[in-house]
Amino acid sequence: MDLLAFFLLGVTASHAFEVTLMDSTDATSELGWHTHPSTGWEEVSGYDDKMNAIRTYQVCNVRKSNQNNWLRTDFIDRNGSIRVYVEIKFSVRDCSSLPNVLGSCKETFNLYYYEADSSFPWSTDTSWDKKKDSFVRVDTIAPDQSFKGIDMKGTQLKINTEVRSFGPLTKRGFFLGFQDYGSCMSLISVRVFYRKCLGTVDNFATFPETMAGAEMTSLVVAHGACVENAEEKDMPIKLYCTGDGEWLVPIGSCMCRAGYAPKVGDIACTACPEGAFKPSPGDDQCQPCPLNSRTMGKAANSCKCRNGYYRGHQDPLNMPCTTPSQVPIIHHMSSTMNSIKLSWPQPEQPNGIILDYEVRYVEKDQAETNSSVINSRTNTVVVRGLKAATIYVFKVRARTEAGLGRFSSGMMFQTRTKEGVSTLREQIPLIAGSAAAGVVFIVVVAVIVIVCSRRRYERGDPEYTDKLQHYSSGHGHKIYIDPFTYEDPNEAVREFAKEIDVSGVKIEQVIGAGEFGEVCSGRLKLPGKREMSVAIKTLKAGYTDRQRRDFLSEASIMGQFDHPNVIHLEGVVTKSRPVMIITEYMENGSLDSFLRQNDGQFTVIQLVGMLRGIAAGMKYLADMSYVHRDLAARNILVNSNLVCKVSDFGLSRFLEEDTSDPTYTSAMGGKIPIRWTAPEAIQYRKFTTASDVWSYGIVMWEVMSYGERPYWDMSNQDVINAIEQDYRLPAPMDCPAALHQLMLDSWQKERAERPKFGQIVNTLDKLIRTPASLKTVACVTPGISQPLLDRTLPDVTSFATVDEWLDAIKMGRYKENFANAGFSSFDVVSRMTAEDILRIGVTLAGHQKKILNSIQTMRVQMNQIQTVQV
Ligand code: AMP
Repeated sequence: MDLLAFFLLGVTASHAFEVTLMDSTDATSELGWHTHPSTGWEEVSGYDDKMNAIRTYQVCNVRKSNQNNWLRTDFIDRNGSIRVYVEIKFSVRDCSSLPNVLGSCKETFNLYYYEADSSFPWSTDTSWDKKKDSFVRVDTIAPDQSFKGIDMKGTQLKINTEVRSFGPLTKRGFFLGFQDYGSCMSLISVRVFYRKCLGTVDNFATFPETMAGAEMTSLVVAHGACVENAEEKDMPIKLYCTGDGEWLVPIGSCMCRAGYAPKVGDIACTACPEGAFKPSPGDDQCQPCPLNSRTMGKAANSCKCRNGYYRGHQDPLNMPCTTPSQVPIIHHMSSTMNSIKLSWPQPEQPNGIILDYEVRYVEKDQAETNSSVINSRTNTVVVRGLKAATIYVFKVRARTEAGLGRFSSGMMFQTRTKEGVSTLREQIPLIAGSAAAGVVFIVVVAVIVIVCSRRRYERGDPEYTDKLQHYSSGHGHKIYIDPFTYEDPNEAVREFAKEIDVSGVKIEQVIGAGEFGEVCSGRLKLPGKREMSVAIKTLKAGYTDRQRRDFLSEASIMGQFDHPNVIHLEGVVTKSRPVMIITEYMENGSLDSFLRQNDGQFTVIQLVGMLRGIAAGMKYLADMSYVHRDLAARNILVNSNLVCKVSDFGLSRFLEEDTSDPTYTSAMGGKIPIRWTAPEAIQYRKFTTASDVWSYGIVMWEVMSYGERPYWDMSNQDVINAIEQDYRLPAPMDCPAALHQLMLDSWQKERAERPKFGQIVNTLDKLIRTPASLKTVACVTPGISQPLLDRTLPDVTSFATVDEWLDAIKMGRYKENFANAGFSSFDVVSRMTAEDILRIGVTLAGHQKKILNSIQTMRVQMNQIQTVQV
């Protein structure tokens, strides 16, 4: 459908507006139009169909042949119109009803016009009728119906109405000419008019009066101006005026600004009244201010919160304003003679990001005015400089962008009487009412706190870098709670891990060795549920209390998580021996060994899918403010559907005492998996989600190289030095450039510049959606340009035989195939084609590719005779 057709279909209902330029019926005396010859047209008085007295012209020379009778109007000013319409009412006598007129009688007449700039355009010595040839004929007009007899009362007259139009007109005005050539007719009335589109308001825009175009099909564009307090919606608004003087549907539209609402009919925008607002431009109506907010006047685009009420940055404007919520409770963590360590959960509705907490404390029985204030960026604080064996009242409040929240209820805690000794009485938290009110509430013993004997909880400086992960300020979502923030970690086990009756557990076979005992596969039948495959970690006999606690701490951590890419805890068995942790079963075991066993067997998309899963699991953990600290392929489990899940939440392997595993190297304050760990975490134990992102980059490298050891056999110290000097792992063979770039991004020295897990998930999703983006393989050129020696492509010159070379590229299994087919020197091997490789019996696509790639590199090395430098 073309544009015009579309508009014509969409013609609006507005009616054409006609402007009359001349109407013969208006004449109150003689019309005095010009006739020629004088024996032709004759002006007579008559009546119209409504019996109004009118002036008409008649002619009836039907019995004379060769008639050419002209009637010419006076000058008609066109008033700027381009096309004019002539409405003629007339009656014509039926020739057959007249006797003796055969051959000379006619029933039609001609309409003409003549354009002119003045009312007498002819020279004085030339009469107008001499110029008749220069009149322009509009049409020959025939009656729809003629009549047979003249009744002077007009009752039998058959009046015809015909409308003709002409244009474009260019001169000031025109004359009309009527040519009769032998009819018997009466020109009852002549009305001349033009059409225009009247000024209008439509879709919140005003349009000026617009003259119709020169042709019936003309569309004259009129540009609209938005009414007051409206603005253009998407494109400038315009209407078209048709040849009939009608507006067509508008293109574009205006809309009321924010703070202004549409009035019925879409013709004006009125200001929102006080107490109401409209947040954005559009057709919506004003809405009343939400609770605890108000406007400062009319036309408001938002409502301001009343004093003391706030709205979070991200909250929509129609949300009620509220006060920051209160910190619900304060936990006592530990005491010394002169310090008390406290923590508290963040308020349920903090009203925005919590900037810090204000902790106020005063000796019991002292006035509030004597209180001291200490600020904490986390929800843990160690209050120092206290008197021994003294009870203090503590209160905490949060500060967000919205301001300070209300204080928590006052809670009383006591410092110790003697260093190193903690009495039960001292550890009982007392809930007190506001100290200002001076009312002490009933003492509630919430938890009987058992002293934690572990030295590290008494150090009293729980930085984020510490192994302890305290409650931290989340953003309204669930956050991870370190089981060791419980004075009794058994309490955490009870809270986060379900106790399973051992009668439902069936151990089948040993599948691995855990830190505390064997890991077995087996079956679990829970009441009302189908039996399922599970992995069962056991705690070996003869364990110490501490080993039991550390073993079960993994369950208290795992039990807090619920995500498809994080290993799922089914529960624990603690009431019988052996103590067990039961998790979902992951058929393919740990990712590093799984990849090594299946070297070269997966498509890039499959590998990226695995990485995506790991990143999604890590994003979930990071959102819960959990820092893993040991993300590595060995700690990822793979199920039968290749779904990867983050696992291994135990802390004990970081402890100094355990020296069994060389992956974890002693560093000041604990053991660290050097190759997987970000430099700031190695140097000053700054373990954060950003250091987990670094480890994730190493996992990406492990995955893309099918379980290769990061930095191969470089020593840990060499790795540390290389990283410090900005060397990074090169792309594994066949690794898409986009993935290696993501690795390099994760290994940014500045931890703030590393991508967030959410961004990593998004990037991987995009790559999966557009597999073509994975086609570009990162350039793996051996040579000094490579940041680290790329051991995945060994230097051919360092091998004496083809067999040695095959071993080095992990394709040793094809030694015989190569030898039997005569490919026993580097010279012939370097010329092998893909067909050769298939022909000698390498059928696996991944292996073909690996061999072919290595041969290509061999060619480069042999051509360049370039020694690879470390
Ligand atoms: P871990 O003590 O968690 O490192 O576990 C030791 C080994 O047991 C792992 O490397 C896995 O091979 C195996 N394993 C642990 N958990 C599971 C599980 N949920 N499903 C299958 N195998 C597991």
